[in-house]
Amino acid sequence: MDSVAANLTTIEQRIASAAARVGRRAEDVRLLPVTKTKPPEAVMAAYAQGYRRFGENKVQEASAKAELLADVADIEWSVIGHLQTNKARDVARFATEFQALDSLRVAKELNKRLQNEGRRLEVLVQINSSEEDQKFGLPPAEVAAFAQALQSFDALEVRGLMTLALFTDDHARVGACFDIMGQVQRELQDRDGGGWTELSMGMSGDFELAIERGATCVRVGQAIFGDRLDPNEYWPGITG
Ligand SMILES: *Cc1c(COP(=O)(O)O)cnc(C)c1O
Repeated sequence: MDSVAANLTTIEQRIASAAARVGRRAEDVRLLPVTKTKPPEAVMAAYAQGYRRFGENKVQEASAKAELLADVADIEWSVIGHLQTNKARDVARFATEFQALDSLRVAKELNKRLQNEGRRLEVLVQINSSEEDQKFGLPPAEVAAFAQALQSFDALEVRGLMTLALFTDDHARVGACFDIMGQVQRELQDRDGGGWTELSMGMSGDFELAIERGATCVRVGQAIFGDRLDPNEYWPGITG
């Protein structure tokens, strides 16, 4: 796992350079290492470099790792993948952050379960910035009404927005997705007089561009931990 440390150093430098190019501070960009399909040892390799919060896209895999590492390390888990209502209870138990909120049904269920647990959850609203049919997330035009409705859920700490950009080498089109996020953010901030500070956008292939367009959180998996594993190779059945 030595390569994890080296990869993290490289990514940190690339984050700093991207931020500097647009006059931003590297400290204003949070690197969220994404450990999906990776064993607990990979999490601990990044932990040894000072990271405390990790991204996972599947609830079952995330809660299994959370349980395994609970006594070993003070780790916070960020669920970054689509959530079904029946998994809300699990998320309410172990997660610190949920970045893929895009339905009031899930918001309501999470809020109820969090209240039962006496916990709160940091939340980002997922936007479908590329407007592809198969993608999760709200269409930009629906975000304002959704944000309004979220105000009634006390256990949800709404921090900002998240997106997955178009998956293409065409920088202009990827950049256009990121720019939409900035626009939606400004509209929400104008209406609410602030807030909505988090913009989670950018992954291994596009995090520098995302930072140049205002990302405050980049979610990076493969560039840190290497190619994704077949989960069944290291942990039979863990992702169900
Ligand atoms: C897997 C995943 C990432 C990280 O992707 P990489 O290409 O491995 O950097 C980021 N965001 C979400 C929502 C993911 O599921």
